[in-house]
Amino acid sequence: MAPVERSEGKASQVLAEEVSRRRTFAVISHPDAGKSTLTEALALHAKVISEAGAIHGKAGRRSTVSDWMEMEKARGISVSSTALQFNYRSAGSSVDNVINLVDTPGHSDFSEDTYRVLTAVDAAVMLIDAAKGLEPQTLKLFQVCKHRGIPVITVINKWDRPGRAPLELLDEINERIGLVPTPLFLPVGIAGDFRGLLRRGEDGVATEYIRFTRTAGGATIAPEEILTAEAAAIREGEEWETAAEESELLSATGQDHDEELFLAGQTSPVIYASAMLNFGVRQILDTLIELAPPPRGRAAIDGREREVTDPFSAVVFKVQAGMDAAHRDRLAFMRIVSGVFERGMVVTHAQTGKPFTTKYAQTVFGRERSTVESAFPGDVVGLVNATALAPGHTLYADKKVEYPPIPSFAPEHFSVLRAESASKYKQFRRAVDQLDSEGVVQVLRNEIRGDAAPVLAAVGPMQFEVVSARMKAEFNVEARMEPLGYGIARRTDAESADELGRQRGVEVFTRSDGVLLALVSDKWRLQYIQKEMPELTLEPLVATA
Ligand code: GDP
Repeated sequence: MAPVERSEGKASQVLAEEVSRRRTFAVISHPDAGKSTLTEALALHAKVISEAGAIHGKAGRRSTVSDWMEMEKARGISVSSTALQFNYRSAGSSVDNVINLVDTPGHSDFSEDTYRVLTAVDAAVMLIDAAKGLEPQTLKLFQVCKHRGIPVITVINKWDRPGRAPLELLDEINERIGLVPTPLFLPVGIAGDFRGLLRRGEDGVATEYIRFTRTAGGATIAPEEILTAEAAAIREGEEWETAAEESELLSATGQDHDEELFLAGQTSPVIYASAMLNFGVRQILDTLIELAPPPRGRAAIDGREREVTDPFSAVVFKVQAGMDAAHRDRLAFMRIVSGVFERGMVVTHAQTGKPFTTKYAQTVFGRERSTVESAFPGDVVGLVNATALAPGHTLYADKKVEYPPIPSFAPEHFSVLRAESASKYKQFRRAVDQLDSEGVVQVLRNEIRGDAAPVLAAVGPMQFEVVSARMKAEFNVEARMEPLGYGIARRTDAESADELGRQRGVEVFTRSDGVLLALVSDKWRLQYIQKEMPELTLEPLVATA
């Protein structure tokens, strides 16, 4: 017996170590803030690539590894949701950390997908353009993080370009989103004259100066020179004094890092950076490792906590089909919550109780796919052609568990969908069911309209384009869409449905998950009904952004 116990003990120790060295995060930002550039810079620092430009091939830079981001740009939308995993060792550390960077779709029409992605991460980097400050999409995504209790690290990017004053940007964060910024580093040199970073110690006293040197086109890691505060004062003169004063000012207003408040989502460590010049990028990675939480257990539907060291379990957070022409297949991405995943293991799909073989498990980054042999909590694995899986579904081994479903967004756009040709009705039906189960759009039906003309409900109209394109490419069905004049969806119940159905500007539907939805033309109509018929149920849907 003894050897078995010992090996089990060893296995759980390995698992605990794997968990503690992992960090899983996403970057939330408004388009153009520099997410792709930062992703690339992070990859460069982790030596995944040897030269920036390798991933998304900015003008004048080489394009080699994958043109995934570029591809999305050409289409104007971000359709794939993938994860980049890399090892990174911070200075002075004796172990490699494992970083999982989960990509979020950039366009606001896909905010529901982004929300799902954010259920799969333990921390977020909020990337802000130094000249623009907080932008609408950043605000929306920040709200999602807040709602889910995800700790946020703030990166103020593009400091190499003229922008605002450092403290002004911090005030904006504080005032507009109520998050107290606690800079770990302050920039030396105004925006547009980025020389280096002052590292803030206790009471805002500068502990060191990290001075950066530009490299040609920012293609390689920027060399760093570490100076003492005294040496920095001599070297940079007034620029250093300004940063040092600002640092002490921040401490006077209590803007120092506090682990507990950060993890509680009340404060956010801030780093100033230039993703393009690779300034501050190492500091971002080191901060993630030092401060972002490693993967943790999760509460199941029954309220019980599944620990990371429990047997295997995972949550599907994204289903993606037809990611590129070379792989016309469907991938379900799962985030591992507990235990060890080994390719080929047979797991149970909690929603159907059916066994599921994980023979085809892959990591995906752009067009790069590689087979995953094993994975640990915090990791993201793509399962190929897993048609039964939908966002929010649970997979487990040995010990039964089911995690709470991911709430869906309140849709704001509605269209009737019809097959162009009646002879294709079967395919049409199959396509609608498939896209529905993947969570591409919500599908609503009622008796009057019948099955042949379901109503699609979306957060953003671009979701409809995805539906049309996929129906054609994957199911060979031409479908027509006619927008409906509703702007609001509210949850209702059977008791209210008839009366609501009689109101002008209102129509009641059943969503495929059984929820009754009343679609209302506009907020004035809604207000009128609520005032005149307060007994009718019209509850707001979980609108998380
Ligand atoms: P995304 O839409 O958030 O992925 O943004 P990109 O990474 O594509 O960057 C948008 C634009 O900003 C591109 O032209 C980048 O070259 C530029 N950019 C990104 N980071 C920086 C930076 O640190 N400094 C400067 N000057 N430009 C940057």
